[in-house]
Amino acid sequence: MKGSRPGRDASAAAEVLRPNRLEAKTKTASVPAVILFGSPGSGKGTQAKLLRHCLQGPHISTGDMLRTHILAQDGIGQQTERLIKSGKLVSDDLVNELVESRIVEPDCRSGIILDGYPRTLNQAGVLRGMMARYGFQPAVVHLMVDHEKIVARLSGRRQCPVCGTLYSLKTNPPKISGICDLDGATLVTREDDRESVIRERLSQYESQTRPLLNYFRESGVPMFEINGAGATPDEIMRHICDSLTSSGLFDGANAVEGANASVTP
Ligand code: ADP
Repeated sequence: MKGSRPGRDASAAAEVLRPNRLEAKTKTASVPAVILFGSPGSGKGTQAKLLRHCLQGPHISTGDMLRTHILAQDGIGQQTERLIKSGKLVSDDLVNELVESRIVEPDCRSGIILDGYPRTLNQAGVLRGMMARYGFQPAVVHLMVDHEKIVARLSGRRQCPVCGTLYSLKTNPPKISGICDLDGATLVTREDDRESVIRERLSQYESQTRPLLNYFRESGVPMFEINGAGATPDEIMRHICDSLTSSGLFDGANAVEGANASVTP
């Protein structure tokens, strides 16, 4: 992630990131790019992991990328830690550059699932350019959940610091209390899942991110409105997969064979 410095001009970033590996990509191919959209705690991370049932390609979470930098205490981590812990957004240039450097990797050629990006109008505009440049077909999945449910959900949320798996104490607890089902690590509460920070994140979402729904509508990006509450994560995932496949945007061939529906979100 060298050269990922906040404040850098996005076009300069694009120059750095137009390496040979991109030239091998077929520009005419329509590679699915599912944009998981919704407020903090709407289930984007959980659904991103489950969506491998109908979509190949990596889960790209800007929040996870930033937390990895914070754990490593590198330059990006040091610059962004305070903002993230207080529930504020980090700079557009930084996340735009992180995402562009990720989506040019070879494992993205069959599809990508974006989680937590874009979050501002600037990011949406930059992403639109990237989608066209690298031959992706974007579709937005909007997970709709009531704000009071979100506060309850997030304050009961636990995460595995090793594999990133999310649990909910109420609706999706680990098999052994406090321990990740997948790798046995001790689960943690994210610092930004404290109630005061949750309120700040929701307010940032309302002022900076929700307006993107209009932007997507006006720019003709296909959008699927999905109820993100009142059903299990697996049921919500099935609903999303059915919507995406029946839209004809992406063919079923993109599904991962043998994916197991009981995977822990
Ligand atoms: P959530 O969607 O639950 O808020 P994320 O893990 O997506 O959680 O993001 C955690 C934090 O990382 C955000 O509150 C913000 O500080 C930062 N962040 C993540 N993605 C972006 C982005 N696209 N733009 C700006 N800041 C971001």
